[in-house]
Formats: sequence, structure tokens, C-alpha cells
Amino acid sequence: MAGYTPMIQQYLSVKDEAKDAFLFFRLGDFYEMFFDDAIQASRELEITLTGRDGGGSEKIPMCGVPYHSAENYINRLVEKGYKVAICEQVEDPASVKGIVKREIVRIVTPGTVMETKALTSEQNNFIAAAAICGNESAIAACDLTTGELYTASMPKQWETLMDELNVYSPSEIIGPEELLSEIKNRLTIPVPLTTREAAPLSLLQEQFGQEQLTKLNEACLEAVSILTAYLSETQKRSLAHVREIHSYQTNQYMILDHYTRRNLELTETVRDRSKKGSLLWLLDRTQTSMGARLLRRWIDKPLLNENAIAYRLDAVEGMYQNLILREDIRAELKPIYDLERLTGRVAYGNANGRDLNALRLSLRKLPSLAQLCADSQITSLQQLVAGTDVCADIADTIEEVLVEDAPVSLREGGLIKPGCDSYLDQLREASVNGKKWLAELESREREATGIKSLKIGFNKVFGYYLEISKASLQMLPEGRYERKQTLANAERFVTPELKEKEKLILDAEDKMVDLEYEKFIELRNYIANHLGRLQKAAAMIAELDVYQSMASVSAERRFVRPDVSSSYDLHIEAGRHPVVEAMLEQASFIANDTVLEKDNKWMMLITGPNMAGKSTYMRQTALVCIMAQIGCFVPARSARVPMIDRIFTRIGAADDLIGGQSTFMVEMKDIQLMTEKATSSSLIIIDELGRGTSTAEGMAIAQAVIEYAERYIGCKALVSTHFHELAHLEQSLDSLANTRMAVEERNGEVTFLRKLVGGAADTSYGIYCAQLAGLPEPIIGRAYELLAEAGAVSEVVPVDINLLESAERYTAAASAELVQLSIFDDPEPQTVHKGSSKRKQAAANEAEQLYEELRKLDLMNMTPMQAMQWLNEMKNKVN
Ligand code: ATP
Repeated sequence: MAGYTPMIQQYLSVKDEAKDAFLFFRLGDFYEMFFDDAIQASRELEITLTGRDGGGSEKIPMCGVPYHSAENYINRLVEKGYKVAICEQVEDPASVKGIVKREIVRIVTPGTVMETKALTSEQNNFIAAAAICGNESAIAACDLTTGELYTASMPKQWETLMDELNVYSPSEIIGPEELLSEIKNRLTIPVPLTTREAAPLSLLQEQFGQEQLTKLNEACLEAVSILTAYLSETQKRSLAHVREIHSYQTNQYMILDHYTRRNLELTETVRDRSKKGSLLWLLDRTQTSMGARLLRRWIDKPLLNENAIAYRLDAVEGMYQNLILREDIRAELKPIYDLERLTGRVAYGNANGRDLNALRLSLRKLPSLAQLCADSQITSLQQLVAGTDVCADIADTIEEVLVEDAPVSLREGGLIKPGCDSYLDQLREASVNGKKWLAELESREREATGIKSLKIGFNKVFGYYLEISKASLQMLPEGRYERKQTLANAERFVTPELKEKEKLILDAEDKMVDLEYEKFIELRNYIANHLGRLQKAAAMIAELDVYQSMASVSAERRFVRPDVSSSYDLHIEAGRHPVVEAMLEQASFIANDTVLEKDNKWMMLITGPNMAGKSTYMRQTALVCIMAQIGCFVPARSARVPMIDRIFTRIGAADDLIGGQSTFMVEMKDIQLMTEKATSSSLIIIDELGRGTSTAEGMAIAQAVIEYAERYIGCKALVSTHFHELAHLEQSLDSLANTRMAVEERNGEVTFLRKLVGGAADTSYGIYCAQLAGLPEPIIGRAYELLAEAGAVSEVVPVDINLLESAERYTAAASAELVQLSIFDDPEPQTVHKGSSKRKQAAANEAEQLYEELRKLDLMNMTPMQAMQWLNEMKNKVN
């Protein structure tokens, strides 16, 4: 450090405390960054990099942002996953000689940010800590904006730990170094990781009280402790809203691993990760942000407790059946602001006048909501609001003190109502009287001087003045006023009397602003003493909102109450995929049954063409179970749903190229996990198995897995496959039923009926699908040809001129009869017998010739113009 100026030395010693963060170092009206921070920040924020002499031999790289717009820059860095340490002057520069003392007042990190555009009101922003103690692992997750804190312990297994972490989609993960490196290797999307150890017990005791800590096991205590250490280090303030620890066991909820959540599109779609198209999107009719966040959490954690599910279903049913009650509750909920986050802002000390008014307005809705529920005759709702604290005293106090249209700024007055404080009232009167006196002075002087345009004005530099336009100046008697400022068109003057009054007025106004600020802080601190009560009220509102949301969607989409019990059997009569159904605009969704019974068939092998609806059917079965276990009605005519402890899906290809694993390896690892974790109460959904390797090996693996699941796991399973050869398993496995998605073939067209019927399919119509997808005709034709050569027999028939030849060969192997649609012939499809007419024979020959030419065409070595010419020639021939 030697050689640097004292200021740079101070910078370097502060920077030492926040090595992994950008240090925003307050210098006057700017936050400056130096050295590497400056170089990197200038790139990330696209701001100019300059240099500054700092005592060393070279200029120090520097860049800065104005303090009043710093929030925006800080948020941009945090959204990119960086941390920002804010270093302020903590002494009044006027009262210090030399360097002003500076300290880090807060470190903003992705998991602790309180306000950014990326923070949506519909989603929590969790920071999570992970810990391992002996054979147990644990996580603790906190949303600093709302004050929620959850902790759960589980056996020490990486998959289980990752599953639980993934539930919270944390923006930042902290923990001991070794553990973090294991987590890093298993993350599906990159998350900022920070190494931290546990906090001293005294800090935990101060934050949560010994009683709560005693209830936690060692692993949870460790995770909470690491989290608390980090929060306290970065936030540097009391976290009065993070007081309650919600602890649970992971086996209290259905387990859904990351891929299953993704595959079932619970909260976002696979394709573009958007909410639209997910189950959450469908079920979300919440009126408040708190409700929206809670609904998401419920979908992420379906229950395993029969009574708790029944309680929720009762509430939903009550509102489902009572449209008027539902609408009344929705109307009362609508104007309620985000009480949870408002409470967080109060605790944080950054709630402004508008926030407190929003709080007041929201609290005023509590009595009517509680009354509606109490009068509803719905036991669940009555229990929900029993003993509700409507926080009337808090709302009353805000109403007494705060004006209704409070400004955002706390430093410009205009916040406190008259009558709240007698000194403030006196100051106001002084200010009002002073202004009255100014008005009188203005008219008196106009009369005395005869200058009509004389006026009294104010600016921050000169205070109050008398202004006279240049044109009227000659009317002003010499020496009447003291000249203060000359403008292009006017002169400004003061008088000793005016200066005296000005002092009185300005002093009163300064005092008023200070006193108003003080009164406001007093009010905010008073509310901060009641955070727990506000959080309880917010939780009640959130829950009620979720019930009305689920009831509204259920009523609108004709869902039914499921019968959830701890039996084994699953019976879904006329089940539907809720989201696909909602997305189908004109067409109607075809319902299908699912019956999986212990004493009969509990595994289903589903065959059928591509695009027939197999995946949709399997997903809908899983979604019905999830919806039932979150306490929602389900899309079916009727449903008896057992308690499913885990849903396991193996759907489609999911490469883990970053993790260094091929598609097939990922598939096999997933299956390995399934064999290890699935119990007889689980539901397995496998959409295609063993397709990433050779056909023979893939089929062998698929069969072996199905046999294993039947013999050793005994859980309900839906398996779809294009290996039609597996259909024979029905004979050897008692619990397995062959089913297929029915199709109808007519006039060379295939219609997907989307209906699940018994028996196995013998074709996948894959080439037909490829044709629908618009693959070039030579490929389609050749594919049919190869298929025929391979001896595959099918009744599907190609439907196009260029496929005619291959169609003939194909069907020659298959059948003497063929359904053909040829442009050489009648436009209508018809059944033709091979060689039935000379005309047809000639057409077929010509087509064959055409086909041959097409096949030989070396497209890669032709220019576009040559291709066009060739096409034109062929067209002429056809004509
Ligand atoms: P592949 O074997 O090619 O993966 P698949 O048999 O799994 O196909 P799905 O992806 O389930 O077929 O369904 C294809 C499309 O058919 C869906 O996107 C949906 O639009 C429609 N569909 C599926 N099931 C139904 C149904 N029961 N009623 C109406 N439309 C349906």
C-alpha cells in the first residue's frame, strides 16, 4: 500500500473486506470503483473507464456512477450474478479533518437483493445454504424480501439434497467449500456460490431465540447458522422480519426431481421456460402477489398427508360450489398489496409513505375477508380465519399520522397529518403566516412603487427576493431596496425585513421537514414492532387467495374433487390433460381413463403412432395425481387417487453435455436413480426407453427395466414405446397391460383418435409423421423403400405422387390392395388393384421414370438456377 494516497489506502483496506464484490466507494456525489473492479465494471455496465493519480507510479483505473442513480447500476450487476459492496461515508465531512471514515454498509448479492426488475412479484427470491452433519444433510432457504425461512434435513445423498435445493430455485447458494464443489457439479443451471462457515451460536440465539433452535436437528441448525452468518455479514442490519424458522422433513412432501418438474411443466414450459403453458399458468387466478407465490410453492411441494389434503380440498370445494362467495372474496382480495414484501421493506427500513398507505389499505380489507370466511359455513375457511388479527390498531395509527397521498420522498415534508404533533403544527403556522406576510408585502410594495409587475420570488441560492422588470426599473425610487441579482430582463432586490422573515420561514420549513421525517420514522418503527402480526395476516390472505384461485379454475374447467386416500389403486375416469385441453382452441380434448390396480394391472405398456397422444396421456396421469395432492380439483369425470410419494419421469432426450454426459448416459443414470429410489407408492412414467443405443440393446434394456420395476419395485408405471416387439411382455408379466393409442386409416390418411384402447399397436407411422413434418419427398420415398426392404409390414400407405413407386413396392410386400391418391389419376382417394388399368400402368411407369431421375439428381452440385431449370423441365413433362 505504501506510496498510495491516504484515500486509496482507505479504499484498499475496505476492499479487503469484500474481495468477491464490486466495491462502490462513495466519493462526494459518486460511487467510484478502482483497479480491476473499475476495468470489469466499465465493461459490464458500459461506462467510461478513466484513470486517477493515487500516489503510485501509474494512474489507477477508475470509473464511477452518480449516487442518485446507483440503484440501477447495482441491480444490473446483481442480475448478472455479481455482488456489490456499498461503502458510504460514515462521518460528516464538515466535522472531520483529513480523510472521512468510510464503511461497507451493505453487500447486495443475487440472493439478498431487495428490489430489482428481475424480482417478480409472483416468485420468491431464495438464498439457500447447504450443510452436512454426519449422515444427514440439510438446507435452509430464505427469501429476504418476505422474511420466510425454511429448513429441511434429509439423508446424506446428493440427489436428495439437489432435489430439495431445486425446489427453491435459489439465486445464490452458500455453504462449506467442499460441499459447494459437489453442488456445483450437479447444478443444472449456474448459480452463484459463496463459501461460508457457520455463525457463532450467540448470533443465532439473538436472531431466533433458543426455543426455536432447540427444535432443529444438528444438520438444520448448521444450515440455518451458515445462512444467518452470511445474511448478517452482507446486510449489516437487524433482520427483524426473519424470525420464524419453518422446519420440515423432505418425506412430508411428494418428491419431484428437477427433471420431473421440468418434464411435467409444472411451473414453466420446457421449450422456452415461460410460465404460459405450465400447470401454474393454468391454476393461477390469484388476486395477490402473496397468493401467486404460495400457489407456486404448493405446486412445487404436493402433500403426503391425507388430512391436510382433505382440508385444502374442503376449502376449494366450498368456494367451488358458492360462486357468490368466491366472487366476493376475489373482489376483496384484488386491492390488497403485497403485504409480505411491504413488511420486509418496513423491517429493512426502506418503506416510504406510499408503502405504509398501501399497508393500511390492505389491512382494511382484513375484517371483511375474515367475516366472509366466518359466515361461509365452510369449516376449512372458518378455521383459516379463526382468531384472525385484523391489525386494526396498525391501520388506525397509519391513518392518524400519515397523509393519504404521501410523496415517495421522505426528505421533502408533506407526510404527516395536521394535529399529530403540536410543534409541527406551530412550525406550519409560522410558515403559513410567513407566506401570508410575503403576499401582503408584495401588494404593499406594488402600491407604494406603482410597479404592477413587482413580484416576490424564491430560489435556493438567494432565498426570497423582490423582482422588478427592467422596463419598470425607472419607477423604483433609488435606495428603496438592496440590489441582489441582475438578470437579462429583470433586477432582483432584498430588504432587511424580507431577509428576517425569510429566516423565520426557512427555519420553520427546515424544522418541519426534519420533524416530519422523524415522525415518519417513528411510525415506521412502531409498525416494525408488529412484523410477526403482519406476516400472519399476509399468510392468511395468501392461503385464501390460493383456495379461491384453485376453486375458480376448477369451476370454470369442470374439474372434479378427487377422492384421495392411502390405498394403492389409481382410478381416473375420463381424465384430461388440463393444460393441453386449455391450449386447444377449437378442437376438443379426448378424455381417457387410467386404471392401475394392485390386484389387477398396475403397469401399462403404451404403443401407438407418433403424435398419437401417448406423452400427453402419461403426463396427464401424473398431473392429476399432483393436482390432487396439492388439494386442487382434477380434470376428470371422477378420480380416486392414492398418495403418491414420488413421481419419476424419464421423458425425451436430456443431454448433460456440460456435465460431460451423453444423452444415453443421462437416460441410464435416470433409470438407475429410479431403481434405487422408487417405492411401491411411486408413479413411474417412462416415455421411450433405450432408444439412444442399438435397437437390439435398447429393446433388451427396456424389457429388463420393465421386468425389474414389476418384480422389485411394484409401483404404478406407464411406459410408452415404439418397440412394438415388447408387447409380448403382457404374457409373462401379470401386472402389465398392453394399450395403444387408436388411429383410423382412411383413404391413405391417418387420423389420430387420441383414444387409449386395449392391445398393442404394430406400427408407429413414423414415416407418415416425417411426411407431415415436411421432410423432402426423396427422403420419405426412400424411407418407405428401405422399410419395405427390411421386411417391415404395415398397412400405412404413402400418399403422394413421388412416393408412388415406393408405395407400390411397399405395399407389394404388405397387401395386394392399396389405397392410393395420385395426381395422375382421379383427385379423390380410391381403392385400386395393382395393374388394374393400362392408363394407370402408364402413369406408374412415368412416375417411376420421374422418381428415378429425382433419385439420381445430385443436388449438392447444382446451382439454384440449374435446380430451377430441372424442376421446370420435370413440370413440363408432367403436364
Ligand atoms: P411421439 O411418440 O411422437 O412423442 P405422442 O404419441 O407422445 O407422440 P403427444 O406428444 O402426446 O403424442 O401428442 C401430440 C399432440 O396431440 C399434442 O401436442 C396434442 O396437441 C395432441 N393431443 C394429444 N392427446 C390429445 C387428446 N387426448 N385430445 C386431443 N388432442 C390431443
